[in-house]
Amino acid sequence: MSDFSATKKMFSLPAGMIYLDGNSLGPLPLGAQAKMDHVLHNEWGEMVITGWNRAGWIDAPTRIGNRIAKLIGAPENHVVMGDTLSLKVYQALASALELRPGRRVILSDSGNFPSDLYMAQGLINSLGKGHELKVVKPEEVEAAISNEVAVLMLTEIDYRTGRRHDMDALTAKAHSIGALTIWDLAHSAGAVDVDLSRANADFAVGCTYKYLNGGPGAPAFIYVAPEHIDHARPALSGWLGHTAPFAFDLDYRPASGIDRMRVGTPPILAFAALDAALDIWDMVSMADVRAKSLELGDRFIAGIEAQCDMLTLATPRDHEKRGSQVSFRFEHGYAAMQALIEHGVVGDFRAPDIMRFGFTPLFIDEDDVNEAVAIVAEVMRGALWDNPRFQKRSKVT
Ligand SMILES: *Cc1c(COP(=O)(O)O)cnc(C)c1O
Repeated sequence: MSDFSATKKMFSLPAGMIYLDGNSLGPLPLGAQAKMDHVLHNEWGEMVITGWNRAGWIDAPTRIGNRIAKLIGAPENHVVMGDTLSLKVYQALASALELRPGRRVILSDSGNFPSDLYMAQGLINSLGKGHELKVVKPEEVEAAISNEVAVLMLTEIDYRTGRRHDMDALTAKAHSIGALTIWDLAHSAGAVDVDLSRANADFAVGCTYKYLNGGPGAPAFIYVAPEHIDHARPALSGWLGHTAPFAFDLDYRPASGIDRMRVGTPPILAFAALDAALDIWDMVSMADVRAKSLELGDRFIAGIEAQCDMLTLATPRDHEKRGSQVSFRFEHGYAAMQALIEHGVVGDFRAPDIMRFGFTPLFIDEDDVNEAVAIVAEVMRGALWDNPRFQKRSKVT
């Protein structure tokens, strides 16, 4: 059994704050400081340029990729780290479209994160081959999978509502008509039991600063299935994805295997924090994380629904159909969230009216949920949010 009281002690959690926003930015793992100090002083400080070989920096993107692979059901040496998620979406989509040259439609849904859709729009313009991005409602995706579709590009768990797509079923349907799939795991990796191999996914991408707690701007990851890895041409053909970067050839030839999805120099200092964050995942099983997160989510839903009838649940109740966050709709959601933050419950707001609360058992327990419910009830029933100072919008909501 995973010991969540032990994992909770491995995070720096600000006193007086119940942090329900690990779905946006995970908290600081206590081990990150020592690990970063080590990399700064013993590696960069002592080794300087020789650190690339002596400290193994050059292989860090695949070494850490293998740690992520275990959390998302991917085989060894099929996940590599680098860049940010938006870039990984672009890479996956460009490669996937080339693998389906006769088709022009990219199918996605309105529950996808805008950056994924924007990257697709930008790529379509650059390619100039008449591709079309078709965006349907999440519940209409299955019916919209037709034989013009080249690529089905979806985020498994909706960032607003926490609704979870059926990855296995939608991938099977896409394959049945000859389309490829790209799954964005931004709200899945470290949150739910993902199994890319079982689902037979073609490409997957994700970030590590949300549920994986790698720190603000932590590097992203990309997965390419074994059957595609040596055929997928990298659109971002940087030197570290070359088969022999230090031959300094004038012409690009992709590396074999997942290394071809590398682009440029990897962020070694950011990897230090991420490495420390991933140590915590060695102590738990994803099945336990998932079961406990659903239990905490159920407890929160029951508590809020019993006391706050002005809040409407936006997240599916069915365990199969939801991720690790719970969202409620409220007309004055922005102001209400600012008031909650001032009262020590930190979630976030997504336009137009969604209040999001993340439940990650690594550092949230039953007592936190009970206390959060009591504070939400106090703020909502007393309309404590109804104050001009909670209306002021910051850049980041
Ligand atoms: C968080 C998130 C992103 C953010 O992309 P970055 O390039 O890391 O800023 C993209 N897609 C989805 C689905 C997300 O949830």
